[in-house]
Amino acid sequence: MALTGRVHSVESFGTVDGPGIRYVVFMQGCPLRCCYCHNPDSWSTQGGREYSPQQLVEEIIKYKAFIDASGGGVTFSGGEPLLQAEFIYQAAVLLKSHGISVAIDSSGYIWNEWVREAVTIADLLLLDIKSFDPEVYKRITGVELAPTLKMLDFLRDNSIATWVRYVLVPGLTDDKDSIRKLAKHLSSYPNVERLELLAFHKMGEYKWERLGLDYRLSATKEPDRELMLEVKAIFEEYNIKVSANI
Ligand code: SF4
Repeated sequence: MALTGRVHSVESFGTVDGPGIRYVVFMQGCPLRCCYCHNPDSWSTQGGREYSPQQLVEEIIKYKAFIDASGGGVTFSGGEPLLQAEFIYQAAVLLKSHGISVAIDSSGYIWNEWVREAVTIADLLLLDIKSFDPEVYKRITGVELAPTLKMLDFLRDNSIATWVRYVLVPGLTDDKDSIRKLAKHLSSYPNVERLELLAFHKMGEYKWERLGLDYRLSATKEPDRELMLEVKAIFEEYNIKVSANI
């Protein structure tokens, strides 16, 4: 049977998931259950629309002029795109044959031979490290932190450009000791080109309600500018380039 992938949705002019204008492909399915997830409707592996790699790439090619002019590319996001790593790999091969660069936004939780292939062919990994404290990580996601750190090692060992993403959630991921430990850890990864510090927001809360799920962070406030600047400064102390939506 021909390979197909389940796509939750696409965004043809994305500007926040990698350099330039991105065609962002949100893949269906995720094994994590992050308490601040703004795409809980992408969790199920059953929904979405099926595409073959060729069909998806034919759609994307229509936007090539915009992508090229902006120094952009395609970003596979989700959900967890590497749950469908073989599809990502096949689509990436086609995209790269058209001269289009490929980024993957992943939690780093899944590892198998197809993940290795997909990650190795990518031009950029956006790796979400949701906390550097294993207990907090588990509280946020429901899964272990260790696979993500192993993925980070693989990316370093194979010189794959990486942007680490960190969502700052007051009362959950704003512990300065833990942030400092993460900054120190990342400072020994030359492949980490930058850290993206993202302010927690509740824009996905309505989706939780619609799905009948319990949103645990209703009472949590978005981080204020002062806290964002404070955390940014900690990473910068370790010579990590930070971009932040402050
Ligand atoms: S990894 Fe992403 S899609 Fe999956 S639960 Fe977490 S925030 Fe949601």
